[in-house]
Amino acid sequence: MPFVSHRRGIVSILISAVCLLSGLGLGAQVEPPARSASTQGAAAHPHFLRSFDVSHFQKGNVHTHTTLSDGGSSPEQTIAWYRSHGYQFLALTDHNIQSNPARYASLQEPGFVLISGEEITMTGNGRQVHVNALCTHTRIPGGAFGSAAAALSTAISQVRAQGGVAIVNHPNFDWGLSAADVTDARDAALLEIASGHPYVHSAGDATHPSHESLWDIALSSGADFMGVGVDDEHHIDVSSDPPATPGRAWIATFGELTDPAPICAALALGDLYASTGIDLQRVSVRDQRYEVEPVPAQAQAQAIVVFIGAGGRELARLEAGDGPAVYRARGDEGYVRARVELPDGRRAWTPAVRVSN
Ligand SMILES: [Zn+2]
Ligand SMILES: [Zn+2]
Repeated sequence: MPFVSHRRGIVSILISAVCLLSGLGLGAQVEPPARSASTQGAAAHPHFLRSFDVSHFQKGNVHTHTTLSDGGSSPEQTIAWYRSHGYQFLALTDHNIQSNPARYASLQEPGFVLISGEEITMTGNGRQVHVNALCTHTRIPGGAFGSAAAALSTAISQVRAQGGVAIVNHPNFDWGLSAADVTDARDAALLEIASGHPYVHSAGDATHPSHESLWDIALSSGADFMGVGVDDEHHIDVSSDPPATPGRAWIATFGELTDPAPICAALALGDLYASTGIDLQRVSVRDQRYEVEPVPAQAQAQAIVVFIGAGGRELARLEAGDGPAVYRARGDEGYVRARVELPDGRRAWTPAVRVSN
């Protein structure tokens, strides 16, 4: 299987151009060429196939409902909540209704922007199949499809045709998607692995993998999803049903600029980390090293950094402590990603980066 899909190659080129032009300074490096079989030998060493070194992040939520569909608060109230709680961007994603950021121009300001969004709400063989369309410009209709695979492929191809970014939402909601459905939806850049919505079965059950395990299954099959955390916010008021309140799960994109364009570029590449309450100070991948560093207060609060490889295999479990937790590639991992854990249950997840062997 190819380590880097054609899509990733194109997006990498595009985001590299964006970074150069905007001076983002994401630390994108020219990666060493893959060693050919004829040059492999004692001198060859395993290395990561992408490089980045990031210490500036933009916090955002990309799954949000309002009174325009089944949410309990107006778009204006919802935007105001996120703007006043430390977020730099937000996508309103009502069911089959596309949000237009220009409509809410007076609610945006330097450092807080809206990106366009919609939850394409479909059924596949009678079960719920939802795909978020981000950074699109035209509404994409939902519909009833004969299979989940047909619904996913239709929605994702339409998002991509508009140059947008697709999220495969809550695979276990209504037990709508199988592991094969998720894996085959690999043209979507993003996959929900953490949700603030209490009814989407993020942890799976006795016969269904968790959302995080579905991510590993897809990654192990060559898909290049980045996992995201979302609120799937429906009500600011906790007494409402469902109690899907804001501030439970989010993403932090790589980069210093809060304009929609660089945020959308980061989303397309999966240049972000997901969180349910952990803030990272720095994430760096280069050559043989994968480094993850929570903010000092959380690092001191018994944070653990777990490095995970293909098949969901745990590679290392390191205390955060002072300075970064560092994992050195061995060459047999397939890919490496990190999950940061706090004793109180909060988590963060960093990108999966493939390793040469
Ligand atoms: Zn949904
Ligand atoms: Zn939703």
